[in-house]
Amino acid sequence: MNVLVINAGSSSLKYQLINVEKHDVLAKGICERVGTAGAFHKHGIDDNEVVIDAEMADHNQAMALVLESLTSGPTKAIDSLEEIDAIGHRVVQGGSYFDKSVLIDEDVIQKIDELAELAPLHNKAALMGIHACQQHMPGKPMVAVFDTSFFQTLPPKAYMYPIPYEMYEKHAIRKYGAHGTSHRYISQRAAAFLDEPLEDLKLITCHLGNGCSISAIDHGVAVDTSMGLTPLDGLMMGTRCGSIDPAIVTYLIDHENLTAQEVNDLMNKKSGLLGISGLSNDLRTIRTASEEGHERAQLAYEMYSNSVKKFIGSYIAVLGGVDAIVLTAGVGENCEKMRRMIFSGLNSIGIELDPEKNKERGYEREISSDDSRVRVIVIPTNEEYMIARDTYRIVEQLG
Ligand code: AMP
Repeated sequence: MNVLVINAGSSSLKYQLINVEKHDVLAKGICERVGTAGAFHKHGIDDNEVVIDAEMADHNQAMALVLESLTSGPTKAIDSLEEIDAIGHRVVQGGSYFDKSVLIDEDVIQKIDELAELAPLHNKAALMGIHACQQHMPGKPMVAVFDTSFFQTLPPKAYMYPIPYEMYEKHAIRKYGAHGTSHRYISQRAAAFLDEPLEDLKLITCHLGNGCSISAIDHGVAVDTSMGLTPLDGLMMGTRCGSIDPAIVTYLIDHENLTAQEVNDLMNKKSGLLGISGLSNDLRTIRTASEEGHERAQLAYEMYSNSVKKFIGSYIAVLGGVDAIVLTAGVGENCEKMRRMIFSGLNSIGIELDPEKNKERGYEREISSDDSRVRVIVIPTNEEYMIARDTYRIVEQLG
């Protein structure tokens, strides 16, 4: 079955065409700056990538370009749209409605729209992607895969915030989590790598990229996660602050004369590695600068690793121990130095990296020492494949 995976952002449209049975990516690409000047379309795999400047007034036009590139010209991957069997859409916020991926119908569309209150940019973008597909490929089965659904198993003691209960009743303010598709994927792959049933394992999964989140998974069930009502909560990130004293918000409003929206921007776009270093949100830039003696870059680096270390400690307590810690995404997969700092000094609680294994590159691999009681493994994430697989499973049941 060929599944077109769509990840629509407010001004972008990312896609992959995946043959699920063969685990094969037939084509992929991204339309960027959709709806603005200077829009362009990147299409192709590795060396065969082409970049085309193209006007795209909206996601509908972007989708038309994508489908044209898939079916014609030098980048063609299939002969016609008939060869696309189904479409899987990434949707950021599924609220309490969706605890798993679902076939898209009018009711689902209406609920995604309703939930846009909680993720305004993201859910509206997903809807634009869904509508564009309906327009260009009417009748094609479509599935919504939610970033939040994996965390619908969290118990109330983990998902509730200690603010007046009425705020939960009135506004549904609670923890929903994010990056759920990635945590689900790496927990399943980790179990396969360890050759043990997921139901027998206590895992801590760490998605460390520009956005960062960490989850406690008890015998296959997510019991806690660091992202909250929104993806601002939890770990320090590239440009997001993560958890801070909430009183800072009102302090900034009062003392910097900022509006609520400006504080929101400050916490989402100007904080994290960027805010502390004053240089960049990119960990590679921070690492180079810190090695050259840039003190704030060094501080940013240390704060990032400390933030992860603290959450690992608290999730070991939540789980009552841990069998394996799993790392993924740009930093988790690639940054030897950050991994070393995160796990430094944890020997006394049975976590020890093997310095040589930590330096190695490769696909799924273990980086803990032979003596480490807790195994530490690196699993490259693959959210697109997970979306394609969910779509396949649901559409196959339709017959
Ligand atoms: P992601 O959001 O998963 O694409 O991850 C982006 C983050 O990963 C950025 O902060 C990058 O600097 C970081 N990253 C990617 N490759 C490396 C690397 N080889 N060493 C250190 N950080 C890296």
